[in-house]
Amino acid sequence: MKISIIGTGYVGIVTGACFAELGHDVTCVDVDEERVAKINKGEPPVYEENLDEILRKNVAEGRLRGTLDLKQAVLDTDVSFISVGTPSGLLDYIDLKYVEEVSKGIGEALKDKDVYHLIVVKSTVVPGTTEHSVLPLLEKHSGKKAGRDFGLAMNPEFLREGKAIEDFMKPDRIVIGAIDDHSMKILEELYKSFDCPIVKTNPRTAEMIKYATNSFLVTKISFINEIGNICKQLGIDVYDVAKGLSMDSRISPKFLRAGLGFGGSCFPKDVKALVGKAKEVYYRPIVLNAALELNETQPLRMVELLERKTNSLKGLDVVVLGLAFKPGTDDMREAPSIKIIQNLIKRGAVVHAADPKALKEARRIFGLHENLHLYEKAEEAVKHGDYVLIVTEWDEFRNKELYRNKVVIDGRRIEEAKIAREYEGVCW
Ligand code: NAD
Repeated sequence: MKISIIGTGYVGIVTGACFAELGHDVTCVDVDEERVAKINKGEPPVYEENLDEILRKNVAEGRLRGTLDLKQAVLDTDVSFISVGTPSGLLDYIDLKYVEEVSKGIGEALKDKDVYHLIVVKSTVVPGTTEHSVLPLLEKHSGKKAGRDFGLAMNPEFLREGKAIEDFMKPDRIVIGAIDDHSMKILEELYKSFDCPIVKTNPRTAEMIKYATNSFLVTKISFINEIGNICKQLGIDVYDVAKGLSMDSRISPKFLRAGLGFGGSCFPKDVKALVGKAKEVYYRPIVLNAALELNETQPLRMVELLERKTNSLKGLDVVVLGLAFKPGTDDMREAPSIKIIQNLIKRGAVVHAADPKALKEARRIFGLHENLHLYEKAEEAVKHGDYVLIVTEWDEFRNKELYRNKVVIDGRRIEEAKIAREYEGVCW
């Protein structure tokens, strides 16, 4: 199939590269010239494990290219996936401006296209968006009719950054919410080589399945962190509790690692967006708000524990291991490291932070700051301070030598760190 992917962030470029790898002809569209130039050189615009290899191969073999020209991409392909960002907007509402801009652009291109085209929303959008925002914009700007002249579907993405290729190629399930049978059939054909169940539904249910999934996972993380916070006060190891808990066949063992809480580009913004959508229909979500509230304060517990050990952080050299919101990515969106570093600096500490991938992002977020020093290697960072905070569980940090004679506060349960002179977990 000839596919265009609009928006080449984590989701777009992984989707594009994987479809090309499966033999489809893929055109990746973005407004960012640098990203498009990189794609055409076979270089991934974002860091993702194994992506460089697949991208290089498919660009070299002519199955994948980048372009700034949305209209031509729509004219030249059969299916367009919208995978632009859907950031948090004001208050708890989702900002749909990129999705709307692209819907308008696709609509304008469709005006000059005589054959049927399928548009698929892959961006995470609140229930109702595909039918009530995307569809009217496509019809308005194309002068054509949805279901007759073009198809429309919502196909949420569940990939995890760091494991994105694996998750795309071997998903637990594929969810397709289509406005009609024809749109559904095209997507079933596209995904027919995938060995997993396909949930066939309408667009708003597909949109809700994505939000319900992330909201459930977020609630599970905040739940185990809360149990961890209570356990710590009672002298109980929450990891032993989680082990016992996870043996209950009704509870999956995943997402039961207590620690610093969640970050990233999806969990916080998606749950906030669902809270915002619920407010629109006059419902105040109690569980979701509580999960978010606990997550706000969890990273700061680390700074409080450090302050309790040292009395004052003024002038203290503190080593922070990990900037990315999780290992395997350079993404720092809503990373707990941001809150921790800002708080340490506010209290007068001098921070020496290390991360193998996220330094460029960290420079963009923090700019130049006299009390923040960045290192690619943890070995370099630990030379500058005796107090070490473990914030991201990179494999590079599973090295006992980093912690010898140090005072460690661990947010991620790194066993090797227990060799420290003084070791304490954030909730154990
Ligand atoms: P991103 O912010 O990394 O990338 C978005 C891309 O869209 C950027 O390259 C940007 O330049 C481009 N863009 C913006 N406006 C454009 C336009 N008018 N035309 C063409 N390109 C345009 O986003 P992401 O992390 O890939 O997420 C995309 C969507 O997928 C979001 O809705 C997100 O919630 C969802 N999602 C993300 C993940 C994840 O792990 N990152 C997982 C599942 C779902």
